[in-house]
Amino acid sequence: MREIYTGGMAVSNDHLRITNVAKGILNTSYGAFSLYCFSMINDFEHQGRVTEHLALVKGEDKGWVGPVYYRLNSSCITSEVFGCERCDCKWQLDKAIEYIAEKGRGIITYHTSHEGRGFGLAAKLESYNLMDLGIRSSESYIQLGLGTEDRRDFRVGSKILQYFGVNEVILLGNNKKKLDALENAGISVVQRKSLIYDGNQEKVKMYLRHKAHDPEQDLLKVIGGGSY
Ligand SMILES: [Zn+2]
Repeated sequence: MREIYTGGMAVSNDHLRITNVAKGILNTSYGAFSLYCFSMINDFEHQGRVTEHLALVKGEDKGWVGPVYYRLNSSCITSEVFGCERCDCKWQLDKAIEYIAEKGRGIITYHTSHEGRGFGLAAKLESYNLMDLGIRSSESYIQLGLGTEDRRDFRVGSKILQYFGVNEVILLGNNKKKLDALENAGISVVQRKSLIYDGNQEKVKMYLRHKAHDPEQDLLKVIGGGSY
C-alpha cells in the first residue's frame, strides 16, 4: 500500500532528496527570472527514479529575509502549453508570475509530476471525457476507479523552499491542502492571496463552480461561491 502525502498531519519531507540543482536565466514577457531545475528522489515512490521540479525565482539566490511570495504550481500542460480553456490553471500561473514580477520578489515552484492529480495525463484526458458529460472533476476520478485520492506530494514545494532558506511565505493560490503541507513541513504561511479567475470563458466558470465543492478549495468557495 502506497503512502499518501497530502498534508493534514504533522509530517516532514525527509523522504525527498535533492540530488542536483541547475540554474539558468529566463527572459519572459514579465521580465527576467532565474529558473532552477531540481533533480529529486522520492524514497517511497518512483522506484528511486529521479523526477525534475522547477523553481521560477525573482530575487535573491539564498538568504531570503521575511515572507516570500510563493506559489506551488501543479503542472497543467493542456491549459498552460496548449491553451485549453477548460480550467483556470494557465490563468492562475500567469497571474502569479505577473504578481511576483510586480513585487520584484518571489518563487513559483512547478511540478510536472502533479499532472492529473498525480495520476498523469492519460487519466486526466479520461476525466475530461467524463467532465464533458457534466460530471465534476473530483467525481470523474472516482468513476475512473482512482478514488478520492490526490497523489500529488505537495511537500516537494517545502523541500525547495528550504533549499532557498525560505521559512515564511505569502501563499498565492486557493488550495488549502498546499497550505497544510507547507505548514506541516515547517514553512510558515503568514498570509494567503487568492487567485480567483476573472476571465469570461464559460467553460472555465463552469469548472470553477464544480471545483468550489471540493473541500480543499476553501478560498474558491468563500470568494468565488457567489459569482461562480
Ligand atoms: Zn488545469
